[in-house]
Amino acid sequence: MTETVVIVGGGQAGAQVAVSLRQGGFDGRIVLLGDEPVLPYQRPPLSKTYLAGELARERLFVKPAAFYEKVNIEHQLGEAVCAINASEQVVCLDSGQTLHYDHLVLATGGRVRPLPCSGADHPQVNYLRTLADVEAMQDKFTEGTRLVVIGGGYIGLETAAVAVKHGLKVTLLVARPTPLGRVTSPEVGKFFEAVHREAGVTLRCDTEVVAIEDDGGDGQVAAVVTSCGYRVLADLVVVGIGLLPNVELAQSAGIACDDGITVDEYGRTNIDNIYAAGDCANHPNPIYQRRLRLESVQNAVDQGKTVAATICGKDKPYAQVPWFWSDQYDLKLQTAGINAGYDQTVIRGDVDSRSFAVFYLREGRLLAVDAINRPAEFVVARNIIGKNIVVSAERLQDESIPAKALADVPVNSGSTEDTTKDDAHNQERVA
Ligand code: NAP
Repeated sequence: MTETVVIVGGGQAGAQVAVSLRQGGFDGRIVLLGDEPVLPYQRPPLSKTYLAGELARERLFVKPAAFYEKVNIEHQLGEAVCAINASEQVVCLDSGQTLHYDHLVLATGGRVRPLPCSGADHPQVNYLRTLADVEAMQDKFTEGTRLVVIGGGYIGLETAAVAVKHGLKVTLLVARPTPLGRVTSPEVGKFFEAVHREAGVTLRCDTEVVAIEDDGGDGQVAAVVTSCGYRVLADLVVVGIGLLPNVELAQSAGIACDDGITVDEYGRTNIDNIYAAGDCANHPNPIYQRRLRLESVQNAVDQGKTVAATICGKDKPYAQVPWFWSDQYDLKLQTAGINAGYDQTVIRGDVDSRSFAVFYLREGRLLAVDAINRPAEFVVARNIIGKNIVVSAERLQDESIPAKALADVPVNSGSTEDTTKDDAHNQERVA
């Protein structure tokens, strides 16, 4: 009998599951459900080239419409799933329609964390998560617009970089002492702070937003009030203060959740035939020997492949080195690994040259790297971390050793696979 896979979530992870199922030989019915009224698209360019007007809309899509037709992947877009009946193996849509499944994949992603202050519903306050968000603000992305960006994470910094290049007057408000404070070291944070200031961004760190007021009373101008007493006027406010995983659908169906939907290394939840992948999934990571919920394209793609393999009966445990990237001005920041718990940093190269790498170690082992315009260090660090190779701090720092040779030391017997081979979905794909 033909089986049906229903995928809830039309983002990168959901699309990947559908594509990988067909590639893996699944010949049953595949139904992809998404609440946005567009085919699955790549989010990374939204705050980069698409916001800058440098990328055509059709290039955002993971696959063109014809592809889904050709490989017989059904899609129903613009409609949310409101309930799962796990005992009956049925999902219910907002329209009242029900769909039976043999396998159900939750790729429900995340939603923006709302700004927690009074006046946050001001008409000039925007978030940047979806294609519709970007398109709604594009007519304001013109020279002279006063833009206040709230949040010193990836969205905030990338938006500020694109905006200042377009001649907007940009103020960036960062709650921590440096931008990217949670995910990088103070050295890297300070570097990006200096880069943005040099480019013309007015940057205020250690500053929280306490209220948004309406300046003038007609909704055209927002006044952003901060804990330091600044009152900054804005024709446009963009908020990027993080993501909340969409777990409510899973929770109400009795699926275990703890900072995301809890899955095993094969993407399986605690309920038979229900899986999760992408930003919403919390998985056990064998490299870091702890559970992680990752918000990245790499994770969405690789977990999507894992779940598809599980459904196809070709179990392939998820064991990837996480990686991320950010484009700002002439800089490409590439991060491999997770630096949480580091006790030493090693800088390779000269920060002033705008080309350097910061390695993060714990007890002499490499946890992560932030490579700024240093692709070779990024690639070799992924390899070192994935294979659990021990490389000394002195060696990492020594520029007389070419980056690609840094991993050429005896391999620990507990090594994992070579992750550098898997560069097919490298970031260049979306640029
Ligand atoms: P993010 O990278 O998690 O950064 C959010 C930042 O906002 C953090 O520094 C956070 O500080 C701060 N914050 C939290 N609450 C705040 C508040 N009330 N006021 C001011 N700041 C506050 O999230 P994002 O930049 O919004 O991006 C959203 C998602 O898109 C993330 O999943 C991100 O990874 C993804 N994304 C990725 C890229 C990339 O990889 N290049 C680019 C764009 C977007 P704390 O650390 O203290 O919480």
